[in-house]
Amino acid sequence: MSLSVQIFELPPIGTQCYVVSHPDSLELAVFDAPLNAWPTVEAIAAKSGLKIGGLYFTHGHWDHTLDGQKFNDAGVPAFAHAEDRLFFETPEVMATYSIPGMAMPPVKIESWLEHGQRIKIIGREVEVRHVPGHSPGSVLFWFVDDKVAISGDALFYRSIGRTDFPGCSFEQLSNSIKNHIYTLPDDTVVYPGHGPETSVGDEANGNPFVLR
Ligand SMILES: [Zn+2]
Repeated sequence: MSLSVQIFELPPIGTQCYVVSHPDSLELAVFDAPLNAWPTVEAIAAKSGLKIGGLYFTHGHWDHTLDGQKFNDAGVPAFAHAEDRLFFETPEVMATYSIPGMAMPPVKIESWLEHGQRIKIIGREVEVRHVPGHSPGSVLFWFVDDKVAISGDALFYRSIGRTDFPGCSFEQLSNSIKNHIYTLPDDTVVYPGHGPETSVGDEANGNPFVLR
């Protein structure tokens, strides 16, 4: 039996929310919370009877966190890397590169994740890999036994995350991708924050920005 990854591309700029479940678990896990993520996930939970076990952030950029507070209000624990703490606690620091006038509620993080940490998510072994460059606290979640990685905005299909925002660095992102993403097994399916899924091997050998 295998991991189920449901993909939702949500407003306002087509950011993906992933809902992950496994036949052996009575919980589901949510990765990132763009606008409307809460009603989307709540409906899935109601229909499936699964409990929303946790909300895991790939990073703290506003388009990934807009519905985060609604998960807080429902008592769902949220997890992220501390180097993006500023974005979660004071989202207004992103005002110059968000949508003018848009409400950006802060998100409470229950527990901060660290590079190399192994955690259980819906009963599966997941390794957290710190992949800074697009944001200081970007992380990738690797489902070790499932050939699945959730990469946030570090790596996309034939592209990489923007590095023109404050706190970004192309050199750092390039090193993160080479050292902590291209070192995963080639047949690992990569689910990014925007756009279609890809694989480690496809990008390591064909990405126009960063090759292995
Ligand atoms: Zn981002």
